[in-house]
Amino acid sequence: MLNEAALLAEVKEDSVVKLLQKVIQIESTNPPGNELALARWLADYFTQASVEAELLEYEGKHANLVVRLQGRGQRPALIFSAHMDTVPAGEVPWMFPPFSGTLHEGKIYGRGAADMKSGLAAMAEAALILAQSGISLGGDLIVAFTYDETHGLQGAKQLLGNGYLEGAGAVLISEPSTLDVFTAEKGALWLKCRAKGKTAHTSMPQLGQNAILKMAHFLHRVEESLDLSADHHSLLSEPTFTVGTIHGGVTINVIPDACEAELDIRLVPDMDYQKVVQRVRELGEGYVEVEVLDWKKPVEGDPKAGIVSLSLQAVEEVTGLSRQPKGVSYYTDGSVIANSLQIPMVIIGPGDTGETHQPNEHVEVSRLVQAVKIYLLIATRYLAGTQ
Ligand SMILES: [Zn+2]
Repeated sequence: MLNEAALLAEVKEDSVVKLLQKVIQIESTNPPGNELALARWLADYFTQASVEAELLEYEGKHANLVVRLQGRGQRPALIFSAHMDTVPAGEVPWMFPPFSGTLHEGKIYGRGAADMKSGLAAMAEAALILAQSGISLGGDLIVAFTYDETHGLQGAKQLLGNGYLEGAGAVLISEPSTLDVFTAEKGALWLKCRAKGKTAHTSMPQLGQNAILKMAHFLHRVEESLDLSADHHSLLSEPTFTVGTIHGGVTINVIPDACEAELDIRLVPDMDYQKVVQRVRELGEGYVEVEVLDWKKPVEGDPKAGIVSLSLQAVEEVTGLSRQPKGVSYYTDGSVIANSLQIPMVIIGPGDTGETHQPNEHVEVSRLVQAVKIYLLIATRYLAGTQ
């Protein structure tokens, strides 16, 4: 019989804090996404603990890192999923330098502290404790640390395409959740819209066609008329529409002949994204062209899956808090992993959902330590086979 108390006693705050600080100090902002340096450092960290890690390098600067703890083949594998890239630190000055990993009053500060180097460090720590415990697992534990999650999910796509995640029965993702349990996520539809006009001197605007004004008119129409409210999901909030970027014009006294805007539309499962594209195109018909940049599928999830009840149980045991499955508005590597493998997804991370992409991003050390324990309990119970 597995002695869980002995396993949890192996979780040392000092060790996971140091690991997270180091991981924050190796900058991996995307763009450009220099995840390779971080992946190399993590590969060494596992190797020094006598755990084999496979570094998969792409284009000289990106990398995925995979660690597979072999089980006895009695159970499907469990994926520990985390991404290594972060969004940039931004222009606003931070209380502590964003790549310092400063520990201050029980919190660790830095870019990625919440999203999601804390989740990554907690998963790495849990995997190492498990590997060193000598416990024989019924199924494999696959640690999948990816690149480019914050943008195109390329790292997860590479791992899937190359068969690294085969045999998995569930995926546990350590994106920020404040240790809440998420089982569904929205999809993200990214559109590029282009308005064309005709240049003229601004003293004679009647001779030109103003592309910026066309775009402004179009964006207003989309905001007023793109009705997404009919679609509901029991765990997710309503679909949303935002304009992320707009570019147009060259100088103040020339009528602009081009304007581009990028739209981010978040959809719930069961919505036909092509119908939404079609509707946006109709609204711009004759004066704005609409191109689909990317479509990240939503994750419907299965709140009744075994991994979900195991997760709720583990979270309650470690934190004392009783949770219900919820959904999130952000996308994760689960969009490709859970949908492609047709497996249930659970998101539990120590980061606070509200800290994501903010200045002074931080994580509570107490939650970081709790996350390691939660991952240990979920992995050992999900992967327990017959002895
Ligand atoms: Zn993230």
